[in-house]
Amino acid sequence: MRNRRLIGALLSCLMLSVPMSGCTSEIENILGESWGVPGGLALACLRDDSYKEMVIEIDHAPGYNPETSTVNLLKQRLGQVCDKPDGIRIELTEVTFAESETWTADKVRDIAHETMDSPPQTSVLRWHVIMPQGKYSDDSVLGVAVDASTIALFPDSIEDATSIFNPRISAEDIENSVMVHEFGHLLGLVNLVYTSPADHEDSEHPGHSNNEDSVMYWAVETVTISAFFSGDLPTEFDQDDLDDLEGMKSGELETSDQLWRP
Ligand SMILES: [Zn+2]
Repeated sequence: MRNRRLIGALLSCLMLSVPMSGCTSEIENILGESWGVPGGLALACLRDDSYKEMVIEIDHAPGYNPETSTVNLLKQRLGQVCDKPDGIRIELTEVTFAESETWTADKVRDIAHETMDSPPQTSVLRWHVIMPQGKYSDDSVLGVAVDASTIALFPDSIEDATSIFNPRISAEDIENSVMVHEFGHLLGLVNLVYTSPADHEDSEHPGHSNNEDSVMYWAVETVTISAFFSGDLPTEFDQDDLDDLEGMKSGELETSDQLWRP
């Protein structure tokens, strides 16, 4: 029963975030600006042909700044897979958002695009995270990736995801994993902008890994996360994830929907 409810929640998250960003990007194309779909700047990150430097802008509500461990882990995980010889910089800014209660994918896009310091692709590649007050319209969702460069994490929901039944897992642990998970979606995982030769996409949770040791495991971004893991939460891409990223980077795997190509 619980699983069925989760499947419904997750599907609605995906329906909100992935296909609707497709609709939005079509509209934006007409207006001359495309924010793409999650995975649409994967090659721009993985390769160094054009973007030698990367900035991660994290805009957070007052008191909602990410943990130092989250910032360090994110930098480390991106550094492992993205070729950025001039470095990956993380910029934290305190922002008062126009919304502080209920978020939708469209609201994340509209408000995040407004608070972003500069466009996603200038001479540097810029990806953007917002950490606002309030929750997603489906309040089981801890984080969403809504286009090629935009993520929202919901610290209020992450706090709710801790459980007295599993005190080993803290809000900090959950934030660590959810942050890396959402960046995995921006990198195109799993099967968002390519088709993996390995059978590791969870058929019941599209866009996610079927390996609970991968940070791309579907339960990582849901509020019941503590119920699914008895030990530590996954924070790493597994070998299949890494092989997919390597295949995209080398060109061995065909990629679609890219806003930038070598
Ligand atoms: Zn996910």
